[in-house]
Amino acid sequence: MKRTEQLSKLSNSTNNEWDVIIIGGGSSGLGAAVDAATRGYKTILFEAHDFAKATSSRSTKLLHGGVRYLAQGDIALVKEALRERGLLEKNASHLAKKQVFVIPNYKWIDGPFYTIGLKIYDMLSKKLSLGKSEHINKKKTLEMLPTVEPKGLHGGVIYYDGQFDDSRMAVNLAQTAVDHGGAIINYMKVTGLLKDNENQICGVKVKDEIHGTEYEVKGKVVLNATGVFTNEILNMNDPNHKKTVVPSQGIHLVLDKSFLPGDNALMIPKTSDGRVLFAVPWHNRLVVGTTDVLVENPSLEPRALEKEIEFVLATASQYLTKKPTRADVLSIYAGQRPLAAPDKDGGSTKEVSRNHKILVSDTGLLSIIGGKWTTFRQMAEDFIDKAITIGKIPSRPCKTVNLSIHGNIPAEQVDRSKHDYIYGSDIPEIKKLEQENPEFAEKLHPSHAYTKAEVVWAVRKEMAEKVEDVLARRVRLLFVDARASIDCAQSVAEIMAKELGYDNDWVTKEVQEFKELAKGYLLVNY
Ligand SMILES: Cc1cc2nc3c(=O)[nH]c(=O)nc-3n(C[C@H](O)[C@H](O)[C@H](O)COP(=O)(O)OP(=O)(O)OC[C@H]3O[C@@H](n4cnc5c(N)ncnc54)[C@H](O)[C@@H]3O)c2cc1C
Repeated sequence: MKRTEQLSKLSNSTNNEWDVIIIGGGSSGLGAAVDAATRGYKTILFEAHDFAKATSSRSTKLLHGGVRYLAQGDIALVKEALRERGLLEKNASHLAKKQVFVIPNYKWIDGPFYTIGLKIYDMLSKKLSLGKSEHINKKKTLEMLPTVEPKGLHGGVIYYDGQFDDSRMAVNLAQTAVDHGGAIINYMKVTGLLKDNENQICGVKVKDEIHGTEYEVKGKVVLNATGVFTNEILNMNDPNHKKTVVPSQGIHLVLDKSFLPGDNALMIPKTSDGRVLFAVPWHNRLVVGTTDVLVENPSLEPRALEKEIEFVLATASQYLTKKPTRADVLSIYAGQRPLAAPDKDGGSTKEVSRNHKILVSDTGLLSIIGGKWTTFRQMAEDFIDKAITIGKIPSRPCKTVNLSIHGNIPAEQVDRSKHDYIYGSDIPEIKKLEQENPEFAEKLHPSHAYTKAEVVWAVRKEMAEKVEDVLARRVRLLFVDARASIDCAQSVAEIMAKELGYDNDWVTKEVQEFKELAKGYLLVNY
């Protein structure tokens, strides 16, 4: 998957009309591209920045039914997500795995309450259940969560959910769409919508953010999958449209594993503000979060609010014997959830729907809002079905229920003791690069296992165009250890410049830009 090749599909297309044009390369847009391409539609996706640059690289990394939604009685949403969780364990075994969660109980009533609730959770997942939840005593709870606060602890409840790597999944979805004939281009911003004589949308105007070239691209249907930026596209369609998406911000702190050693995750269903708190092992670190705060404006690089940082640190300290401080934070990232706005503006995030909605404007523009990573496949199926229902494209059946996502290998072949398991079926190709050139086998950073071959691979096969693309979303160093990612920026830029044919000025500019960005992932100056 090379950008030049994808771009040539755009300029060399003899018949410049596409069946499906998708705006946005997060989970919603990439899922739609996979669905459309596999149904055999001529499909193109434009992403203004890099794949998963926005919300889709900033999640809690869970594939879950949502224990909280169960408590709220949203059974249909939970059932759908549990089914999708199960499908992903099969269709993307290299990225999705089972994760054990333990809910520590500090009130006597919590034991039976959560055990019963989680039994229902198991039942709803039917054959796709990942394991049976059970009540455990205090001793076992402390064995499973060695650093959980023992004072006042009665016992715990174990349950199972899924975990994955969000931006790796995004890249693999882009590759899957390309493998099935789709065209997928990053750094292509949609700057306008084209309308025909009947005021129906018939294409988009796009700008290549790397080379500056502008194109007009015609299509039978245009799908808006821009997450928290949905309103901007709706504005291009109709400057007087109603605000339909509300950004709700959540943050995560990444800590050393010593704050919660072992493989089990901690889940607190009800913190002091009523929110769930997770502490989940991920890539040999611990991801702790999150908050949920309605914010005014969407942002590509949202920053954590001071009150959010305080909340996560204070809540984690309440439940862990090793208390994290600001200096312990290896990386901090914020993400914005695209929630479907309630009819009236305002309100708390709990009043706002988490189900996805598909809007059809008078001009035939389709927009998808809400949803979550776990349900991207179902969201995509609904999105393309809607384009069929309104007569934009001919009817063809969905093919994604059992579709292997690029990289998928049988679960028993995935070796999670090695850092490169996330590449799945691509591992032999990366190893080949290391054998062909011993320099590529060198580590990027002494404290991390990533090799230079992964940078080369990201450029040659995963459409990484900038240092940030590699260090934030192909290898996850910015998210697991922001200081280490700053240390590597120079060597990553040099490897990329060689691969892409750039000069020293490009290297200097890229390193500077990346260092500036990475500072935003640290709480203490570096
Ligand atoms: C803190 C947090 C934690 C979460 N945790 C989980 C979790 O554990 N599990 C789970 O299932 N879900 C989780 N979610 C939800 C999930 O991450 C989101 O629902 C999902 O990533 C949204 O994807 P999206 O494609 O709709 O939006 P985005 O990922 O934001 O993608 C939209 C894309 O559109 C692009 N774009 C915008 N304007 C244009 C334009 N003019 N031209 C071209 N492209 C454009 C943007 O650059 C962006 O890449 C979480 C969300 C948050 C905020």
